Amino acid sequence: MADPTPTTTAAAPTPAPAPAPAPTAPQQASASALPEGITDPNYTPPPLKKELQEEGHFVPERMDDATLLRFLRARKFDVVKAKEMLLNCEQWRKDFGVDEIVKNFDFKEKDQVNQYYPQYYHKTDIDGRPIYIEQLGNIDVKALYSITTQERLKQRLVHEYEKFLSSRLPACSKSIGHPVETSCTILDLSGVSLKAFYKVSDYVMAAASIGQDRYPETMGKFYIINAPWTFTTVWMVIKPWLDEVTVNKIKILGSNYQSELLQQIGKENLPKEFGGSCDCKGLGGCMVSDAGPWNPAA
Ligand SMILES: [Zn+2]
Repeated sequence: MADPTPTTTAAAPTPAPAPAPAPTAPQQASASALPEGITDPNYTPPPLKKELQEEGHFVPERMDDATLLRFLRARKFDVVKAKEMLLNCEQWRKDFGVDEIVKNFDFKEKDQVNQYYPQYYHKTDIDGRPIYIEQLGNIDVKALYSITTQERLKQRLVHEYEKFLSSRLPACSKSIGHPVETSCTILDLSGVSLKAFYKVSDYVMAAASIGQDRYPETMGKFYIINAPWTFTTVWMVIKPWLDEVTVNKIKILGSNYQSELLQQIGKENLPKEFGGSCDCKGLGGCMVSDAGPWNPAA
C-alpha cells in the first residue's frame, strides 16, 4: 500500500551533502580586471574605499581607485595611515580653498614671475610623463616678492597640480596609449647662489610639502641639474623633509647632465638650453608655449 502522507515536509531527511566546493581564492585573484588607471599587477582592492564610504567621507569625484592607491602607496599600504593622510588632505583642501583656486585663480603676474623664477610644463618624456621645469638661476627674492607673494606662488602651484591631474595626465595617457600617473621634473640650479637659495628656501620647502602630502606619488622622475658643490649642504637640509621614496627618485647631476637627461627625454622634446633640439619657434619659446598632448594648439 502506498503511503498517503504528503511528501512535502520540511522535516524530510536532508539529502547527502554535495562534495565541498574547491577553494575559489586563486580564481578570484585573477577574475576581475584592474580598475581603470591602475597599472600595478599586484593591486588588490583595498578596504580603504569601503571604510570611507561607511564613515561618510567618500568623495567620488576625488577618490577614484587610482587616487586611493596613490595615498596607500605613500603610506606603504598601511590603511589607517593612508586614511589619515587622505582626510588631512580633505581638510587642507577646505582650508586652502582648493575648489575656489581651481575655478577662479588667475596668475596675472606669470610673465613677470617667469623672469625671476620660470616654472613650466613642456612636452613629455619617453614614458609619456609630462615634463615640468623649474629654474632657480635668476631668482631675485626681493624683486620676486615685489611682484607676487609666497601665498600666491603656493596657490599657483596648487592650481598647476590640479590641472596636472585633471587635464595633463589624461591627455598624456591618451597620447601614449597607457595610463600616465606621474611627472618628470627638471630643477635647474644653474647660477643659484646659496644665499639666494636660502632666501627662497621657505617657499621651496612649502612647495615640497604640498607635493608630498597633498599630491603624493605623482613624482616619477626628478632631475636636479647644474647642482653646485655647495648644493650638497642644501641637500642635507632638504633631505630630512622628504620621505625615503621621494629621495630615491631624485637624481642630482652637475653640469654634465645632458646625456642622462636624453636617456629619459627625446631630443625633440627637450628645450635647446638643456641639450635638446626644441625651441618652440613661433610659439613664443618653450617657456611659454605650453606645448604637450594637453594643448592641441601648440
Ligand atoms: Zn619647446
